[in-house]
Amino acid sequence: MRTYPEQLYPAQRLERVRAAVGAAGLDAVLLTPGPDLRYVTGYDAKQLERLTCLVIPAAGEPALFLPRLELAAARAAITTDLEMVATGETDDAFALVADRLGAIDSVGLSDRMWALFVLRFRDALPGARQALAATVLRELRMRKSPAEVAELREAGAAIDRVHAQVPGWLKPGLNERAVASRIAEAILAEGHAHVDFVIVGSGPNAASPHHEVSDRVLEEGDVVVVDIGGTMPSGYCSDCTRTYCIGAPPAEFTAYYEVLRDAQEAACRSVRPGVTAESVDAAARSRIEAAGYGEAFFHRTGHGIGLETHEDPYIVAGNDLVLEPGMAFSVEPGIYPGAHGARIEDIVVCTEDGAERLNNAPRELAVV
Ligand code: ZN
Ligand code: ZN
Ligand code: ZN
Repeated sequence: MRTYPEQLYPAQRLERVRAAVGAAGLDAVLLTPGPDLRYVTGYDAKQLERLTCLVIPAAGEPALFLPRLELAAARAAITTDLEMVATGETDDAFALVADRLGAIDSVGLSDRMWALFVLRFRDALPGARQALAATVLRELRMRKSPAEVAELREAGAAIDRVHAQVPGWLKPGLNERAVASRIAEAILAEGHAHVDFVIVGSGPNAASPHHEVSDRVLEEGDVVVVDIGGTMPSGYCSDCTRTYCIGAPPAEFTAYYEVLRDAQEAACRSVRPGVTAESVDAAARSRIEAAGYGEAFFHRTGHGIGLETHEDPYIVAGNDLVLEPGMAFSVEPGIYPGAHGARIEDIVVCTEDGAERLNNAPRELAVV
């Protein structure tokens, strides 16, 4: 099995985060299992009712508090000399964290921390205002290092290999669920550690962007939206949509699919450092609106991707964030008139002078 040391989860990252905690005006950050903890340490810790928590004080040494029975797994995952404090089954882990921090005024909690822990920390640290650790981590996680981009590129290639096999499974007589189970197997076979989602929306289900699967049987003439993604062993995610037709598509479909393809191309081409996230949304939306399908495109153009499938930056009207090299996100406009629908999605990374697409499966109308 491949390990992911130095470049992807560099040892200096913890120190960078610690410095950012103080700069953000927080006294400490507490990270429970999830993408923030993995980003800082590389440790893919289990979500348990027992407390695992990386304590990062603005002043002082960080430490990982964890149940005694997780110690061996944590030592295997974390190669730096991070202090680990193992807690027993009868210890009050929250009180131990509070003792370590002393009297503090503010604490940042990871976005994905369970309410169970948030409330226990509120009681254990009654003087500390609770904030989101995202105020510290969002800025760092949004700007991917070359090693992170390389992992996203690998994830993109893996999901492209799955899409290359999809036409062979879209057969009249099979239902969406059966197609999805073959796709899920392929997501794993092509190198992902787990399957995050499989959307197979056929016929009218293609018009429901987050439809997953149903027992609907595929028919000749169906349009099928296939949106799939998984997480690689590195922790980085894939997400790619293609729209297929089983035999000749409805006439109206062919017309709006070309509008969609043009809009998706234009939005991808608009990505470069210095433009805003909302301008990428506008590049797609203005073309779809001009063709009269504005009402049928009712979601944002994209979302950031990394250790989570959906993370900052969001490609949406109102987000005036200026894009920088290393920012990675989806460009996935859709048109959903009702009887059928279509979406095209690629992951794009902003580079020094433009953008790189991490998905390269063909985007022309695929008649299978
Ligand atoms: Zn989505
Ligand atoms: Zn998707
Ligand atoms: Zn997406």
